[in-house]
Amino acid sequence: MALMLRTMLACLAGLVLTTACSTSPAPVSYPMDGRVAPPSAITTTASVSAEQGPFQPDVDLFLCPNSTITNAFEYDADFRVLNFNPIVLVEGKVVIASVPTNNACMTSGFGHRMGRTHKGLDVRSRPAGMVYSAAPGTIREAKRSPSFGNTILIDHGQGVFTRYAHLANIEAGVEAGKVIGFGQPLGIMGTTGRSTGIHLHFEVLTGTYPGSLTAHNPLSFPAYLTQSAAY
Ligand SMILES: [Zn+2]
Repeated sequence: MALMLRTMLACLAGLVLTTACSTSPAPVSYPMDGRVAPPSAITTTASVSAEQGPFQPDVDLFLCPNSTITNAFEYDADFRVLNFNPIVLVEGKVVIASVPTNNACMTSGFGHRMGRTHKGLDVRSRPAGMVYSAAPGTIREAKRSPSFGNTILIDHGQGVFTRYAHLANIEAGVEAGKVIGFGQPLGIMGTTGRSTGIHLHFEVLTGTYPGSLTAHNPLSFPAYLTQSAAY
């Protein structure tokens, strides 16, 4: 308790800009009002749980110290990302957590970066933290790829998908075809594939699978506001 108070005071004073601050406020809760319906199961032998998992999103997102962020977005004097919404509504249909890990700071945003389009959000925590499913769905991919390293793609139904890349590992039972609940462990963030350091590369995509998927800025969606998600 004393530590928490000290951390909060430090945050208020603007002395601590990163991970400690991001955990100080009470976490928000994913809405369990039935708005999100995962796609129908491909298999019923899931060893990964289709129930809601232990993850609770952090209220705030901060920029990492000493990181060079070329993507344009707004933040305050404490390096807190402005207008950050931990629970968002994608395409008016699917509710997801916009940052599916805890105590993380942002190293890169979505958009133009070094002459290319960065199609996701990069966040990191130290020590490397667990990455969780951002919404209920069906796992479409859980594999190792040359660019994404250990990567997972989840289909949330209604044409909305999330991708998690560069994981150090893929948790047991996280396999293509399995139904998974919100907030279930996927793997520890890592630096597998084409990556320059331990972080999570997180994408929100819309479209059809297999087929064409279009990436969107995870921070661009409106907040999902309900009485059950009071923050
Ligand atoms: Zn990235």
